[in-house]
Amino acid sequence: MQNAKPEFPFQPIAEYRAYKGAIDAAMLRVCESGNYILGPECVAFEKEFAAWIGSENAVGVANGTDALVLALRALGIGAGDTVLTVSHTAVATVAAIELTGAEPLLVDIEPATFTLDPQKLADTIRANPQRRFKAVIPVHLYGQPADMPAILAIAQQHGLRVIEDCAQCHGATLGGKITGTFGDAATFSFYPTKNLGAIGDGGAVVTQDATLAARIRELRQYGWKSRYISDTTGMNSRLDELQAAILRVKLPHLRADNQRRHDIAALYGKHAANAAITLPPVRAGAEHVYHQYVVRSPQRDALMAALKLQGVPSAIHYPQPVHTQPAYLGRIVHGAGGLGESERACREVLSLPMHPQLTDDAALFAAEKISRWQP
Ligand SMILES: *Cc1c(COP(=O)(O)O)cnc(C)c1O
Repeated sequence: MQNAKPEFPFQPIAEYRAYKGAIDAAMLRVCESGNYILGPECVAFEKEFAAWIGSENAVGVANGTDALVLALRALGIGAGDTVLTVSHTAVATVAAIELTGAEPLLVDIEPATFTLDPQKLADTIRANPQRRFKAVIPVHLYGQPADMPAILAIAQQHGLRVIEDCAQCHGATLGGKITGTFGDAATFSFYPTKNLGAIGDGGAVVTQDATLAARIRELRQYGWKSRYISDTTGMNSRLDELQAAILRVKLPHLRADNQRRHDIAALYGKHAANAAITLPPVRAGAEHVYHQYVVRSPQRDALMAALKLQGVPSAIHYPQPVHTQPAYLGRIVHGAGGLGESERACREVLSLPMHPQLTDDAALFAAEKISRWQP
């Protein structure tokens, strides 16, 4: 079969071009309105996003890292507290915990799903009776839901708050329930490459708890309850009107965009089979939204180089677990059983081209190269 190398467009610009007319009009509307911060676009987006998730409240904030900081702070978590999460995640998850003054404790992952291992979570809590554990942050990494029923049961048993890091899972479900509605709060990022992405930074905290939402609204704007009067010590973390207006253009397409990711994943599943490569399994009862399509191989670096030679771009999410990165090395507490699976994942994972504007031709081209690769 002769196939000329297809294009692998850079996602953010491809996505802008797909919705260019509506995005340009929305941006112009904001510019002409003279209302640039916490105006009607943000209010409308918060309503629309909360409805899309099926939650009571969404609070727009500046980015996904701040969303985690604000959720933790609003839950009263800070210095002297310990928050459990994973080491195989975007560094932001761990950085946010430290920004509140709390201490992160990193637990290993299930190798098949790359998400928090509930058994190791329970073992870690049992092994550290002296610690003030306040919360757990499961990360639905790559768009795959973590094992929420097991995690919620452990959290309930130990009085832990649950904050879902939904930066990569907009729309993913487990047992028919959408991620972002399992815990006390859920945090989203709208960084340009996420399943729902702005043209700049953006984020949101989603919660069923109106009191918690109100506290986050205060904290995101200097702790103001009313203008110029700080009730508590807050910060500045607002979703601006331009980003909110752009997100409002894209939100109605999110379901179809996720479906497109799903179709590309199905195409990889069918055409990229190779005994030397593990394709990503989906958790029973879950709907994966493929923020990334991540395969694994012990010869990952050779695979990546071979694909690059043949014109297939790929990426590594993430090359190092958080606990081995220079800023964290030697000072992060590890969960029971260590972090061996997190370290192995970072050596073996490879993200294949995956986004809604990727064509079938491009995905098939990539799949064929993968299926024919010999280590
Ligand atoms: C992107 C991301 C974040 C941080 O979001 P920002 O908007 O970049 O601050 C947090 N957690 C995970 C898992 C992410 O992928």
